[in-house]
Amino acid sequence: MSSSTRNSVNSDTMTSHSQGAPLLELRNLSTHYVSAAGTRVVRAVEDVSLTLHARETLGIVGESGSGKSTLALTMLRVLPPAAQIVSGQMLFEGEDLVQKSEEDMRKVRGKRIAMILQDPMASLNPLFTIGDQVGEPLREHEGASRKTAWEKAIQLLKSVRIPSSETRVTQYPHEMSGGMRQRIVGAIAISCEPRLLIADEPTTSLDLTIQAQYLNLLRDLQQEHGLGLIFITHNLGIVAKMCNLLAVMYAGKVVESGPVSRVFNTPAHPYTEALLSSIPRMTEQRQRLTAIDGQPPDLSNLPRGCAFAARCPRVFARCMVEEPPIFTPSPGQTARCWLAAPNTAHASSPQVSVGAL
Ligand code: ATP
Ligand code: MG
Repeated sequence: MSSSTRNSVNSDTMTSHSQGAPLLELRNLSTHYVSAAGTRVVRAVEDVSLTLHARETLGIVGESGSGKSTLALTMLRVLPPAAQIVSGQMLFEGEDLVQKSEEDMRKVRGKRIAMILQDPMASLNPLFTIGDQVGEPLREHEGASRKTAWEKAIQLLKSVRIPSSETRVTQYPHEMSGGMRQRIVGAIAISCEPRLLIADEPTTSLDLTIQAQYLNLLRDLQQEHGLGLIFITHNLGIVAKMCNLLAVMYAGKVVESGPVSRVFNTPAHPYTEALLSSIPRMTEQRQRLTAIDGQPPDLSNLPRGCAFAARCPRVFARCMVEEPPIFTPSPGQTARCWLAAPNTAHASSPQVSVGAL
């Protein structure tokens, strides 16, 4: 990590003009996967700084393999053994989660920070009833009796709009539809009223109608409980609908971040531009889908300079040799791109309207 990169991150990075102390502040966070022999290091999350306040929703987008899930697992410290948080801080309600003991982290997980995984079956145990599983965090974190937890589970299923919840609690995961399982995982996540909910691709297995219902449900829960939400998705339409902040990841780094409307309307990084132009526009008669040419780099063998340079339509000599630090092209917006450097003369970015998505 270059010192210029470190120095260029300040506490204003990615604020959305919210009042009060941040709910979550990631500072220069890096997580690497290290092979058993220690010879191969995958820089899955590198120097990530993000800020989220209560009631805000941050969308994290980026190509497959860009580090989104690793970042989510880092935030809850549920990484596989090969992964290590190698540097940085994760301030959650002012406390650094990186420094917490495993025992203290157990009190945070599921209670103050909850996570919805991409595959609902991965979070549900086929051998236990839905009632037992939805009530489990209440027994674990709040010392609720089995009976109280069971009754609360029925209420929670109602709150995520599962019909006949009195019967459903007695059933097993395989007796539920995919949409129901996803909502049950949502019920487990909100059971202890967390302050922060991280959802990793929560809607990929759902059909469009159920997807829309589920998103509305998450938004209602957020408004009711004042949650901070982090939404990891490939779907920029979902970002437009759900999020007020956006972070774009490329090769383990946040290459652009800021308020959604600003990033969509005036993207500062050519990778963000490319992502936005790969969405078919409803306003166009012919739906055009532009794939981004080329492949992302190997995270265990990153090129010199900017990791996007080999694919960038606006690459110039400096990009190939020197890694761009974080610039602030407009208040609250960050970009790791030399084009965003002050006094850089370059062609203006094409405008993309959020309404067009
Ligand atoms: P997707 O959109 O496909 O879910 P992602 O952005 O969530 O991708 P990650 O799963 O965080 O990406 O992976 C980031 C990088 O870390 C990838 O290069 C991946 O190969 C690597 N990686 C993930 N898990 C491991 C692991 N257990 N051991 C070693 N490398 C891993
Ligand atoms: Mg992932």
